[in-house]
Amino acid sequence: MTIPPPDIVPYMAAWSAEQRIARTLLCGKGGIVYADEQPHDRDSRGALWMGTTLAQGRGRPEFARTHAQRQRRCMRALLCQVCAGPADRTEQGVLWLVENDEGRADELNWPEDLVTVHPPICAPCARQALRLCPHLAGRGSVAVRVKDSAVEGVYGQLYRSSPHSPVEGRRDAVFYDSPEIRWVLAAQLTRTLRGCTVVGWPPQPAAPDPTHIPL
Ligand SMILES: [Zn+2]
Repeated sequence: MTIPPPDIVPYMAAWSAEQRIARTLLCGKGGIVYADEQPHDRDSRGALWMGTTLAQGRGRPEFARTHAQRQRRCMRALLCQVCAGPADRTEQGVLWLVENDEGRADELNWPEDLVTVHPPICAPCARQALRLCPHLAGRGSVAVRVKDSAVEGVYGQLYRSSPHSPVEGRRDAVFYDSPEIRWVLAAQLTRTLRGCTVVGWPPQPAAPDPTHIPL
């Protein structure tokens, strides 16, 4: 297998040298806890996070696996999921590539209120992604401008209580205002997309800033 150069491996992808940190989970009062839990294991809204070692660029990229802490950083700060630079932004909002699952783009208001684990993207990376992965367009990814998105939950492994250690349930997205937030081991941050405008494919770059005078 030829290893692609790091500059075309999405920032968010995990590398083979990056492994999950094994921690003992216990049933605490009203949710899961780490046996050796530290304050930074939980985010400010109470979700417990899985830990992954940091070794970006070491070993092989594993495109199907997302690095929890890098995904979280992109999602919180609206950084491009590929290059970690600022996501593209115009008056219509921030640029996202949204998979058109089941041809839903024809529905009125789609993808309004969509809950996604995929961070936004910058315009050059969106165009490069299309060039390198034509199936993105074929499968029906749609470029969408999003005016108002909010971090409202996490995606991860849900557990349920048992007399011994917690028992694994489904993997799912959980909102911060749900009681289940105490029973999920977070692996990704979710944002809910609002104020969406479908802008077609491929996405166009932001218009130049009229106040910016080139030297
Ligand atoms: Zn980018």
